[in-house]
Amino acid sequence: MLTTKLARSLQTRTANASWLRYLNSSCSNGSAQNGSSIARHLSTKPWIPDVSMDTDMVHGGVVPDEKTGAILTPVYLSTTFVQESVDKYLEKGYSYSRTNNPTVKMLEEKVAKIEHGYDSICVSTGMAATASCINAFMKTGDHCVITNCSYGGTNRICREQFVPLGMEFDFVDFTDPATVEAAIKPNTKMIFSESPTNPTLTLADLDAISDIAKKHGLIHVCDSTFATPYVCRPLDHGCDLTIQSLTKYYDGLNIGTGGALVAKTPEHYERIKLVQNMNGNIMAPMTAYLILQTMKTMGLRVRQQSSSAMKIATFLESHPNVSKVVYPGLASHPQKELADRQHRDNLHGGMLWFDVKGDPIKLMDTIKRPWTLCENLGATESIITACAVMTHANMLREDRLKVGITDGFIRISVGIEDPDDLIRGLDDALNQL
Ligand code: PLP
Repeated sequence: MLTTKLARSLQTRTANASWLRYLNSSCSNGSAQNGSSIARHLSTKPWIPDVSMDTDMVHGGVVPDEKTGAILTPVYLSTTFVQESVDKYLEKGYSYSRTNNPTVKMLEEKVAKIEHGYDSICVSTGMAATASCINAFMKTGDHCVITNCSYGGTNRICREQFVPLGMEFDFVDFTDPATVEAAIKPNTKMIFSESPTNPTLTLADLDAISDIAKKHGLIHVCDSTFATPYVCRPLDHGCDLTIQSLTKYYDGLNIGTGGALVAKTPEHYERIKLVQNMNGNIMAPMTAYLILQTMKTMGLRVRQQSSSAMKIATFLESHPNVSKVVYPGLASHPQKELADRQHRDNLHGGMLWFDVKGDPIKLMDTIKRPWTLCENLGATESIITACAVMTHANMLREDRLKVGITDGFIRISVGIEDPDDLIRGLDDALNQL
């Protein structure tokens, strides 16, 4: 008896596989024996087979509350969970909210379902997801091949935090998979893609890079924040892990910050779950509750944002004060064939950039609402950013130019307003340059 209790208590302190399975199996809104008959009826009503992604966006991974039938997952703000006896420790799946929280677990299951993963961890920000990934799979002496136009925060944490810890990073051009393969060394452990990249909208051929990773026994992770799962699911293209800044399209309403790291296999999930627990890096239940609701409309938003972005990009290509427009839906995008192959349903997301002829600061100053000047992206509000003087102002000019962020580089995150209003606003400001 004592041995059993000790073993169980030890299991909570290590990432014992059976313990993780146990937690996972009991996470879907508690155990059935607690539910009323109505609630049981609700949660066990059979589904029609093979529902589409749009249906999954709303219902995937979530069941009505067993006890009350509440359609929305309750917010469990409790730090700790009462155990009936030592013998029944963890019987209901929960012990302490740093390790697992029912509201956060519901979001983790929903994200995993949408991304086609085994399971996921949800953490405080997208950067926390990136840090968790490198913490989980890299150690001193290991080498990572990473895209040279990754999100600035990713580049910074590799250089400022992980290099001093003795890890190596080669920032290379991911447009040609052969360049990625050529950068692999005997101590390479991970390939880190981002597709499309922030802010240059460069794509990585995920299938080809995943094949290379498999051939060399490496982990392939992809930051798919700009694509969103609605446009591309990296796990369907051979990647082992997907990173999402939930702050962007998952949230989509400028409500909260969050991040997710999604694993394709139970083995990788066990490792990231342990790292989440050890680092104390779990999302707050209230944020999980909010994102559980906001992500239900991600498909609708991304469809609208993609169609508006295409309309705006086409308008910008014809404007005399614009020298270049980059959007993966345009025929002029250098990787159009890859974009069509890798992106779902002819959708290319809500992000685009253009280069202005003239003063980008003047454009920022003169542009009228509904355009908003700020640094987030992926939300319902359209956002315009002059990268050289805002998001990437801390980069050396020559480094910035090397990755294509010119002085007149304007990044747009298209919201869900009427695209004609957005075009009128842009036209008016561009005409004043
Ligand atoms: N990955 C990408 C591609 C991003 O654009 C960002 C933020 O802009 C992040 C990761 C980091 O996300 P967060 O701001 O939620 O930490």
